[in-house]
Amino acid sequence: MAGYTHIASGKVRDLYALDDGRLLFVASDRISAFDYVLPTTIPDKGRVLTAMSLWWFEQLADVVPNHLLSTDVPVEFAGRAMICERLQMLPVEAVVRGYLAGSGLADYNRTGAVCGIPLPAGLVDGSRLPEPLFTPSTKAPQGQHDENISLSDVAATVGADVASDLRRLALAVYSQAESIARTRGIILADTKFEFGRRPDGTIVLADEVLTPDSSRFWPTDLWAPGHAQPSFDKQFVRDWLTSPASGWDRASGETPPALPDDVVAKTREKYVEAYERLTGLAWM
Ligand code: ATP
Ligand code: MG
Repeated sequence: MAGYTHIASGKVRDLYALDDGRLLFVASDRISAFDYVLPTTIPDKGRVLTAMSLWWFEQLADVVPNHLLSTDVPVEFAGRAMICERLQMLPVEAVVRGYLAGSGLADYNRTGAVCGIPLPAGLVDGSRLPEPLFTPSTKAPQGQHDENISLSDVAATVGADVASDLRRLALAVYSQAESIARTRGIILADTKFEFGRRPDGTIVLADEVLTPDSSRFWPTDLWAPGHAQPSFDKQFVRDWLTSPASGWDRASGETPPALPDDVVAKTREKYVEAYERLTGLAWM
């Protein structure tokens, strides 16, 4: 494998350096849930997520620069890799929420606020928020859980100017993506971005964007606050893992068990369906 050097593997992606300035960013078929990499892969997932990110980068090109340079990748990675600018990543998960779910809901139920931003009383699982919120979290090392933090915590890490740029950019990208998704009958309930900096300081949208791994997508016509929403994300896998059928105890600290074939097949279908609904293109 001449020409590129493995530099890191995250839960889902493998990163290779092409040279000082360029990365080969490869999406595997691995799937993670509850911060564990599962022992089972989902066929085509890496290609679906890459195709979706590429489609979004195009839709968002007017809002923020992104790290994509080319899709002309070595043949063994065809369809599931991008050549990207190598950036200095900002150590923040730039989460935006338009609706209440997941750790945002947990935060709200405990404190009446999300990331220190106070919210009106009476909101429930799936409620639309009065306005989209920037609700950053730490980027925890592998095996640890991300933690919600306040904007001033972000400012303490990256400086007040960068923190406020991050917030502005994340909200602008969410707003554009949310209105596009809405025209396709999909609610973009929340999403997580990662940004990095060029040597000249420019903030650039990096990583994958607006995929079911980084976002909650809900079918608009089935939205009914008050309980967990049906979704196009891996909520499906999470639901199975936390059901008695899996035999897995989340509190045990043990790696989750292999997914049964029907959960794998249905999860693959969900990823493909999300791609087709969003882009209006047929999955090959
Ligand atoms: P997870 O997303 O499941 O929490 P992870 O973030 O640890 O896991 P992956 O998402 O699998 O890991 O790997 C992607 C890694 O590449 C992340 O650490 C991300 O910050 C980094 N990254 C993304 N884009 C760039 C870029 N343009 N330059 C440098 N690093 C990047
Ligand atoms: Mg990641």
